[in-house]
Amino acid sequence: MNRAVLMGAMILMGAAVFGQPDYERLRMEMVEKQLMARDITDSATLRAMRIVERHKFVPQIARPYAYIDSPLSIGKGQTISQPYMVAFMTQELSLKPGDKVLEIGTGSGYQAAVLAEIGAQVYTIEIVESLGKQAEKCLKAEDYANVSVRIGDGYHGWPEEAPFDAIIVTAGVEEIPEPLLVQLKEGGRMVIPVGKKRSTRQLVLVTKNNGKIKKRNRLPVVFVEFQRAKN
Ligand code: SAH
Repeated sequence: MNRAVLMGAMILMGAAVFGQPDYERLRMEMVEKQLMARDITDSATLRAMRIVERHKFVPQIARPYAYIDSPLSIGKGQTISQPYMVAFMTQELSLKPGDKVLEIGTGSGYQAAVLAEIGAQVYTIEIVESLGKQAEKCLKAEDYANVSVRIGDGYHGWPEEAPFDAIIVTAGVEEIPEPLLVQLKEGGRMVIPVGKKRSTRQLVLVTKNNGKIKKRNRLPVVFVEFQRAKN
């Protein structure tokens, strides 16, 4: 090996060891190996998952792990969902650009960004103030103007903006909150993890047609607990 080639090789190795990871490549791999290799086929969902920079929504220390096949801690005992879960829930909503979507559990803001990237008008509620504020900052920094963040107990939904074409709940409930069923538009879709406390729950797809509510179990899931405001 001549000297120039050796130097080149050393620079490349240095970049790999000390530089920042190639997040773009990691993200494309995530989409291919974790989403397409499973059952994510919706092109709008796949496109959004290729575009949204997940590493920007996790704490600095967790960034190198942003694209692994797992949920990650975002502080305050909360997590950013596994990429596959974000994609699956998004795909279940069958969104069209311009749809009005309510999210309960803003967390990192990543799921909201994916919904916004599809062209939805997103209203998202977070009960932990510091998380909601941080998510709002990230969403602004990433230029997602079509997301409104509110701090509060999402149990009551967002009556001033109802009804919603779609509702996504990213914390596990024992019972589906009645206000959310009321705020779902005719023909609308809701995904929500339902089941006993601290157990594996069912991700339920709720639809409303001719005023009738239909529920379908889609996937066993583990989520953080839905909390209630103290007063
Ligand atoms: N969608 C998030 C996942 C966050 S985990 C993301 O992409 O990162 C679930 C979040 O729901 C937590 O941040 C938790 O604080 C919040 N949460 C729990 N109960 C809530 C409630 N009643 N109203 C609003 N947010 C709630």
